Amino acid sequence: MKRPDVIVVGAGIVGAACAVELHACGHEVLLVDARHPGAGVTAAGMGHLVALDETDDELDLCLLSLGRWDEYLATRTGLAEHVRCGTLWVAEDEAQMAHALERAARLGRRGWDAQALSGDALARTEPALRAGLAGGVRVARDCAVYPPAVARDLAARLVAQGGLTRFGAAVARIEPGSVTLASGERIDAGAVVVAAGTAVPQLLPDMPVLPRKGHLAITARYPRRLSHQVVSMGYGQTKAGSDALAVAANVQPRITGQWLVGSCRQDGVADTDVDPRVLAHVLRAAIALLPCLADMTIIRSWTGLRPATPDGRPLIGRHPLLDRVWIAAGHEGLGVTTAFGTAQLLADLMQERPPAIDSRPYSPARFAHARS
Ligand SMILES: Cc1cc2nc3c(=O)[nH]c(=O)nc-3n(C[C@H](O)[C@H](O)[C@H](O)COP(=O)(O)OP(=O)(O)OC[C@H]3O[C@@H](n4cnc5c(N)ncnc54)[C@H](O)[C@@H]3O)c2cc1C
Repeated sequence: MKRPDVIVVGAGIVGAACAVELHACGHEVLLVDARHPGAGVTAAGMGHLVALDETDDELDLCLLSLGRWDEYLATRTGLAEHVRCGTLWVAEDEAQMAHALERAARLGRRGWDAQALSGDALARTEPALRAGLAGGVRVARDCAVYPPAVARDLAARLVAQGGLTRFGAAVARIEPGSVTLASGERIDAGAVVVAAGTAVPQLLPDMPVLPRKGHLAITARYPRRLSHQVVSMGYGQTKAGSDALAVAANVQPRITGQWLVGSCRQDGVADTDVDPRVLAHVLRAAIALLPCLADMTIIRSWTGLRPATPDGRPLIGRHPLLDRVWIAAGHEGLGVTTAFGTAQLLADLMQERPPAIDSRPYSPARFAHARS
């Protein structure tokens, strides 16, 4: 095999997007995965493409990425169950409504159309919501996709454009400019990008990527009764509380007529078992906003482990100690939304171009002390 310029370890949505972006920059790219494209947490999430604005940095990365998603989806009509459903942020009380108004103003200032709604307007916009809610925000341009289909498509695009892939090949060791597979085979390259999701610490022990568990459930197919992704204003990237479980309603209409129901965040749990008590919390929260869900049939439930970092920001950039090793990981509950923006930022840094957005908040160097 020809020596690649870059090896990308991990073909989740983040690694696959990075591989395609780096290939487009003229690099010979090898994309490696222990399993197959989209087999990791990319297969377990909701696929909501959402402009989150808890910090300016987060919004910068979301908006950069959502712009790139628009370009990608324009060339892929019909792929990945894409639906431009928008987001309906729901405020249950006046305190949440105050946050909703701030969100509408913040997104609006950045040109991301967001309309504040009174309680009455909210009820007219989404009649399945329970009566008596304080109001909310409608964000028209947010949308939803089926993420593993995108990861597969990106891997196929890489191959079609002359890139290389090795699937079913676990990487056991990373060294400056090389990877060693579990089989013992060593592959040298100009650079290595580690995009291995929650497995990053197994390869780079100083990089703190921690599992944050989420439960999801999906209904049977129904004639459409929901036109937006409905999300409680209580939903966020914030850490779970002292009981290590944070629950907030998040319900997505799939194009199949199913409702995808989430979600929760649970720290300190690394198994992927469905816990009926946690699932019950998730369903109760969703039913509290959308009472008709109580009469619908749930056909499947599952969990996924979000790749989280201690400060809630992903790791995008050069490894602080290992030469020619780069990282793109730790996107927690936003990795689908921010995959393309991450790829662009990483490529900017690797090409030594001025980055499209400030890259400093994402620098892996902020955890350089972890090794000592
Ligand atoms: C319940 C839930 C809901 C979510 N909802 C959303 C949402 O609505 N919107 C959103 O933007 N995000 C959402 N997310 C988050 C999103 O799914 C993740 O941030 C994203 O999928 C992370 O992608 P990744 O490529 O970094 O990781 P992964 O998809 O886990 O990919 C890592 C890849 O690395 C491979 N790998 C690991 N170790 C090795 C090794 N040693 N050698 C070779 N390959 C290896 C794995 O096989 C895997 O394919 C959600 C997550 C959960 C759990």
